Amino acid sequence: MFNLGNISAPSTHDDAPRHVKVLVLGSGPAGYAAALYAARAELAPVVLTGTQLGGQAALTHTIENYPGFPQGVGGAELGELFQKQAERFGAVTEFDTANAVDFSQQPFRVTTDNGLYLAETVIISTGASSVHLGVPGEVELTGRGVSYCATCDGWFFKDKRVVVVGGGDSALEEALFLTRYASKVTIVHRRDELRAGAILQKRAKAHEKIDFIWNSVVTEVVGSDKVEAVRLQNVQTHEETVLATDGVFIFIGHTPNTQIFAGQLELDARGYIQVNERMETSVPGVFAAGEAADPHFRQVVTSAGMGAAAAIQAARYLEEREQVAGPA
Ligand code: NAP
Repeated sequence: MFNLGNISAPSTHDDAPRHVKVLVLGSGPAGYAAALYAARAELAPVVLTGTQLGGQAALTHTIENYPGFPQGVGGAELGELFQKQAERFGAVTEFDTANAVDFSQQPFRVTTDNGLYLAETVIISTGASSVHLGVPGEVELTGRGVSYCATCDGWFFKDKRVVVVGGGDSALEEALFLTRYASKVTIVHRRDELRAGAILQKRAKAHEKIDFIWNSVVTEVVGSDKVEAVRLQNVQTHEETVLATDGVFIFIGHTPNTQIFAGQLELDARGYIQVNERMETSVPGVFAAGEAADPHFRQVVTSAGMGAAAAIQAARYLEEREQVAGPA
């Protein structure tokens, strides 16, 4: 579990607005890398954790491609290390979530579950969330066999059959993880070619517990109070089949958590925040890093790098403003 390091007492709606130099929205690799750099620049950043402390990385069982960990590192463990390192230099963590922003005036106004922040700079690192299939039975049976997180829920499928939907890195990585528990893992992919990288493909194809159903999509999750089967359709022949299963794990991509910034910042057609190479958004003083602004790389290391860059730029922005304003 994450430590409770520099956490300030929870505020309430009745509290006076809290004025900060750097407000970081999100506690994943981008958020805590930004907080580390801002803290070392003595800007006393406050990190609002959002609903998922550690971000998506914390839900990953093992991260094998973050440099410096030759044996790999647990996702939650890495998140805790990021947090501890940032807090060692004075970053403060708040278990709080931003739900509205006003970037039209300085200081920026960020309304959270617990109160109001007035921030001179904001670094947005709100990450992304799993895309849902949108088929009948999916919502009703979420938590009853439908899952978006193998690390969280794999244990419940000991000696059971599971279906994994998707053909990307996440689907294969999580399918391989599920083989620790499940008796059989069936990957259902809508094409006959995987999107995932070569190493994961090789491992998954060689695994005795994993098999594939190609050119097929899930059209329904079937079950009364728990998952019993999935209805599949072959996209080439249109043939329908029903496959009995105890669980359905869905890994078909992510969508950025940027809804509260619509109308305030320039977003692309898919909702990703548009940033330049300095992590600057369309509003001076507001920066974005990690998956909220990155439809392309979406790696722990690239998100952390973007977070560091955003904080360096936020420090420069504050310095320049102070120079223009002159000594107080
Ligand atoms: P992704 O690469 O976008 O793959 C999504 C997969 O879901 C694709 O195979 C896609 O099929 C399929 N899909 C999309 N919509 C679907 C639908 N409605 N019905 C059925 N299938 C659907 O997403 P991801 O696997 O979550 O990976 C996201 C990013 O994180 C990538 O950049 C990936 O490299 C990175 N990542 C890296 C690692 C690692 O390096 N170890 C681990 C996890 C994730 P098509 O292939 O036909 O489009």
